[in-house]
Amino acid sequence: MMGMVDEELIVLALTVITKDLELARRIVEAAKDGVIEEGEIQESLKLSVTNLRVMLYQMQDSNLVVQLGAKEDDNGNYLSFWRINKDVARSFLIRKLKKTKSELIKRKEEDLSGEYYVCAADPSHARLSFDEIIRGMESGSPTCPVCGAMLEPVNREEVISSIDSMIRLIDEAMNVLEEG
Ligand SMILES: [Zn+2]
Repeated sequence: MMGMVDEELIVLALTVITKDLELARRIVEAAKDGVIEEGEIQESLKLSVTNLRVMLYQMQDSNLVVQLGAKEDDNGNYLSFWRINKDVARSFLIRKLKKTKSELIKRKEEDLSGEYYVCAADPSHARLSFDEIIRGMESGSPTCPVCGAMLEPVNREEVISSIDSMIRLIDEAMNVLEEG
């Protein structure tokens, strides 16, 4: 498998932060020589000042961008400049994948060692352990805390095989990233 180019890596890393691939792509495209001017990008991407700033600080926390400084323009507007730090995108992504993998392993161990119940209408609503069900039964028959539907036991084999395939995918992605 071919390695990924820096451009793709930084887009992917910013997607992890923004949860929006298209937005991440446009931020990277809009940065001239890797430098973002906050006001320019806010205007061209039609983002609110607050949302953009929150995203920039989140990116800064992971060193994906570095604030270069700020200055006032002729009209007294505050302009801040940020450099996109492509060099850390690879290690950032590897770190995120490792974290996700260890969460999946923990989840798998939980599913192997205990019995879990999910909402029968939508498993993303609730996931309760057998103990939690028993405790909840004191106040009537246990139902989904979100929609009130019945709870049903987790299909353990199905869950574990889906966790295993996610872990395989993460391992493959990490191999590609670590090859450089
Ligand atoms: Zn539900």
